[in-house]
Amino acid sequence: MPTRTDVAIVGAGPAGLLLAHLLQREGIGVVVLEAKSREYLETSPHRIRAGVMEWGTREILVQAGLGEGLLQNGYEHQGIYLAHAGELHRIDFPSLAEGWRIWVYGQQYQVRDMIARFLEEGGEILFEHEVVGLADLTTAPKVRYRTPEGQEGELEAMFVVGADGSHSRARSFVPGLLLKQTTYPFAWLGILAETAPAAEELIYASHERGFALFSMRSPNLARNYLQVSPEENPDDWPEERIWEELNLRLGGVARVEPGPLLEKSLTPHRAFVAEPMQYGRFFLVGDAAHVVPPTGAKGMNLAVADAVALFQALWAFYKKGEEEGLRRYTQTCLDHVWQGEFFSYWMTHLLHAQPDPFQEGLRRAHLAQVLSSEALKRFLAENYTGRRTTGRWVRSLA
Ligand SMILES: Cc1cc2nc3c(=O)[nH]c(=O)nc-3n(C[C@H](O)[C@H](O)[C@H](O)COP(=O)(O)OP(=O)(O)OC[C@H]3O[C@@H](n4cnc5c(N)ncnc54)[C@H](O)[C@@H]3O)c2cc1C
Repeated sequence: MPTRTDVAIVGAGPAGLLLAHLLQREGIGVVVLEAKSREYLETSPHRIRAGVMEWGTREILVQAGLGEGLLQNGYEHQGIYLAHAGELHRIDFPSLAEGWRIWVYGQQYQVRDMIARFLEEGGEILFEHEVVGLADLTTAPKVRYRTPEGQEGELEAMFVVGADGSHSRARSFVPGLLLKQTTYPFAWLGILAETAPAAEELIYASHERGFALFSMRSPNLARNYLQVSPEENPDDWPEERIWEELNLRLGGVARVEPGPLLEKSLTPHRAFVAEPMQYGRFFLVGDAAHVVPPTGAKGMNLAVADAVALFQALWAFYKKGEEEGLRRYTQTCLDHVWQGEFFSYWMTHLLHAQPDPFQEGLRRAHLAQVLSSEALKRFLAENYTGRRTTGRWVRSLA
């Protein structure tokens, strides 16, 4: 069992694994502690999550040597559809966002690929080691963990990274941290089903009964979502009701054929930003530092951007003895973080039916503006593909 390392990373999600891989490639010592088993991360239906990658995220993963699986099994999409009042409106990314587009590849597959590569290269992940405490974060950091056998252990590190997701335990050990947060009156009922997707590209459907998203993992695996209330009980949604509602909200522009349901889950929408994203020798990355509602497909992309930003700051410290990048880490990230929060807020409010009639009137006017305005479609395309926000991190890694 290791007792000392350069960088201890709490959490083997996309943020923690990318950072670990980048550091290890540069010969910087790293140990990842992960509460769950490898099998759970790679196969549990509770870990399906993201599917849409910005073009920059795809490029970063490829440049980092983590793109083999996504290049073989992922899909390029050059646009999305907005469905409204029985019509489909295509947002063509390359023409609106200077060639930028998106890539569709399941987050769980990407996590599986990253674990395999990191371990192949001699990396150390302590699976089923739950972090239960952090100490001395401003002087000589220590990470306390519980082993699968229930024993407690301690790892000393030069730096500690909290990459342990939205319910971050690591975050709770940081004094003086301000959680800027808001709630949304929406949730998504998500299903994964063995059936053809509604279309070759994603359809974002705005309907008076509520929003619906039609996405995919492969040509015979559909990932669809229905806007529901955060108090909804998924058990009130038997399969027939889900398929009927999905087709109603498509409004006749396409059809989804029922197929065996592989997963059904409820995701309440919420958002927060933890500021600052650092304390002493401790840094937060990804969902541990900020969460967005899933409408704009930003969460994993922001997590990847944070990981690259922190990698660069740590690299400058270890290779050049510079501390400025580490000191400025929060400031560096808050730019893309708040851009991601803003776009997610914008797109969520554009597409979700509002319970309040006045707000719903405003929303429809907003949507009519977007559907008829080249400038607003460009805004959507530039943010959705990441050209305007996280795009700069691709250039910085090259
Ligand atoms: C329905 C849905 C759809 C989404 N769609 C998209 C999308 O299309 N595009 C997109 O970019 N984003 C999307 N997201 C968001 C995306 O999934 C997250 O932003 C992403 O998982 C964040 O990665 P992370 O590494 O920061 O955290 P996580 O993936 O949550 O990883 C954190 C890890 O830390 C571990 N951990 C937790 N506590 C401890 C502890 N005490 N000790 C040790 N380990 C611990 C966890 O087990 C986990 O493995 C979606 C999310 C949902 C829910």
